[in-house]
Amino acid sequence: MSERFAEKMAQHDVAKDTRLLGDFAVIYCNDNHPDAERAPLDSSGAALGVYGKRRPAVCVECAELLAYAEKRRASCPKDPKPFCSYCDTHCYRADMRERMRDVMRYAGPRSVLRGHAIDSVKHLIEGRRHARAAARDS
Ligand code: SF4
Ligand SMILES: [Zn+2]
Repeated sequence: MSERFAEKMAQHDVAKDTRLLGDFAVIYCNDNHPDAERAPLDSSGAALGVYGKRRPAVCVECAELLAYAEKRRASCPKDPKPFCSYCDTHCYRADMRERMRDVMRYAGPRSVLRGHAIDSVKHLIEGRRHARAAARDS
């Protein structure tokens, strides 16, 4: 783990975004990978305590996505940072981008009931803005 990664993860907004993704991944994993074995996330971010005492309990596949997302978040050049799904300079590998999109699409609306009402509304508004911009450009 690099010093830069640790410094980034110590920043409030970076840690908050990372925890949000962890919560989204748990919602997605529980409903979409019902038969998978789940374990508390073992990642660089988790080792730094970003998720506090409640590490996201996810399957191997979702753990891989979260560990990848932590690295991307720590290297994100955007400020302010949009939701990754609506970023115009997407830095994710194509397959990871698709997987994260699925997670966000599924868990975003459902996260309202699990303490993320504000994040969910922000995601919705940003999605509409993104769709309008795409329609204008086409
Ligand atoms: S996709 Fe965009 S917003 Fe997300 S981490 Fe990469 S550069 Fe930042
Ligand atoms: Zn899963």
